[in-house]
Amino acid sequence: MINEHTIRDVVVLGGGTAGWMAAAALSRFLGNGVTRVTLVESEEIGTVGVGEATIPPLITFNQMLGIDENTFLRATAGTFKLGIEFVDWGALGERYFHPFGPHGRDLQGIHFHQLWLRAARHAREAGGAPTIADWAVSAVAAAANRFARPAPDAPAPLRDLRYAFHFDAARYAAFLRRYAEGAGATRVEGRVVAVRRDGGSGHVAALRLADGREVAGELFVDCSGFRGLLIEETLATGYEDWRHWLPCDRALAVPCALPRDPEPYTRATARPFGWQWRIPLQHRLGNGYVYASRYLDDEAAEAALLSTLEGEPQAAPRRLSFVAGRRLSAWNANVVSLGLASGFVEPLESTSIHLVQAGIAKLIALFPDRRFDPEERDEFNRHMRDLFEDVRDFIILHYKATRRGDTPFWDAVRTMNVPETLRRRMALFAGKGRVFRDTAELFTTPSWVAVGLGQGLMPADYEPAVDALDEVKVAAALRQMHAACAAAVATLPTHADYLRRSGIMAPAG
Ligand SMILES: Cc1cc2nc3c(=O)[nH]c(=O)nc-3n(C[C@H](O)[C@H](O)[C@H](O)COP(=O)(O)OP(=O)(O)OC[C@H]3O[C@@H](n4cnc5c(N)ncnc54)[C@H](O)[C@@H]3O)c2cc1C
Repeated sequence: MINEHTIRDVVVLGGGTAGWMAAAALSRFLGNGVTRVTLVESEEIGTVGVGEATIPPLITFNQMLGIDENTFLRATAGTFKLGIEFVDWGALGERYFHPFGPHGRDLQGIHFHQLWLRAARHAREAGGAPTIADWAVSAVAAAANRFARPAPDAPAPLRDLRYAFHFDAARYAAFLRRYAEGAGATRVEGRVVAVRRDGGSGHVAALRLADGREVAGELFVDCSGFRGLLIEETLATGYEDWRHWLPCDRALAVPCALPRDPEPYTRATARPFGWQWRIPLQHRLGNGYVYASRYLDDEAAEAALLSTLEGEPQAAPRRLSFVAGRRLSAWNANVVSLGLASGFVEPLESTSIHLVQAGIAKLIALFPDRRFDPEERDEFNRHMRDLFEDVRDFIILHYKATRRGDTPFWDAVRTMNVPETLRRRMALFAGKGRVFRDTAELFTTPSWVAVGLGQGLMPADYEPAVDALDEVKVAAALRQMHAACAAAVATLPTHADYLRRSGIMAPAG
């Protein structure tokens, strides 16, 4: 109901991915005729310039905004992503795939991976066990470099194929800017040099720009990046530091020429003191080294990264510093922080942009009025804390469940204590391969299974309920699913052909 309490002015500070995602969604969903959205950004300061791999829920964000997927991919030089290939994580020389979507099919209420565990135990005894990824259509398609969006009525197993995107971060922000401005948002170019606060409530009242202008508002969305200009520099909200679990605190990013047509997956390769990403776009390869400064200096990291590039570098490496953790309250007073201003867990599972999206959805669901009900704020903060902690635990699993000990870095993460929530999960998985999730959690059972098994965390046993299923029949069903997966993937075009055929990528040559 529009009344005297309705918020008139929302000010978004920052024009990176978070700022423009927020401005685009808020302009679209607050189109009530009275609430205005203004975004302030400074070209002089610029954006973080990374963040190019995503996870499947971004499809929903596009749908919510009515964005056509092909238009978005053309505008951002985007490609499809079926999951992440992890190289050298469990042990040197090992690789595994974390696919989007399920492995196989559950039978009679029993999770597929439990059936696989029984079959794998017997196969191991017989001398060889196929990997569980062979039953995930997204993983099989990625390995074959094939892709097509599944039709809504696609038969199994093609309908289980899930995807996300890789895109050029700068082009994505520009794309969303056009969208947001088209939906009514106003952009103000300028550097914020001071923040005016209300003397009574302490709420942020206005941003003062270097040229003396003021941008006033009632609700401020802080998307100013790591510094958190409003949430931290102004409101001193506090930050929970997770470096004792996630010691990587530096990153170097450098694009290089594409050596061949883009593959439909991200690769994360473990390195002696961190890990390296490889993200194929239409026009270039994104590369980056995430490392711990306690073990490796910036010059050595740069040399290591440059020595592994598959093509000519297209820019000087960009250096970034961060502290893994989260803002103690993502929403404080009349400031809601999103993106890097609200916290950061390293990009190993491409979760940051999703956390922005989830924050926006929750902000819209709990959108305040001028009275700022503390219950709404607390609900938002609880939700964001839970999301950040779920992501944190999942990322820590990749380090804790390593068998590597070849450098002090790997030795430290392998032997560290982990959060109690993760310790419990790992213990349940190690026993009988059990995974229990809360409904709101981001990562599904197949994700925990893919990474747990991929890292070499083989459960000692399977669930007793599996023994109630006829072993011969289950083995036949598994063989059928395995063959169906391979046969379905063989019908798909190559990823590059699909991009070209759909008019997303220019024809070769
Ligand atoms: C190494 C690395 C790799 C990453 N990889 C991924 C990935 O693969 N997938 C993923 O989902 N996420 C990834 N992320 C995270 C992702 O990059 C961010 O979540 C996303 O880009 C959002 O950033 P942001 O908009 O919060 O901040 P920024 O891009 O830093 O934007 C901050 C904005 O605030 C403005 N600003 C700041 N101060 C002022 C001021 N005083 N006055 C005016 N304007 C100001 C800046 O000009 C800029 O517009 C990665 C992050 C890092 C560090």
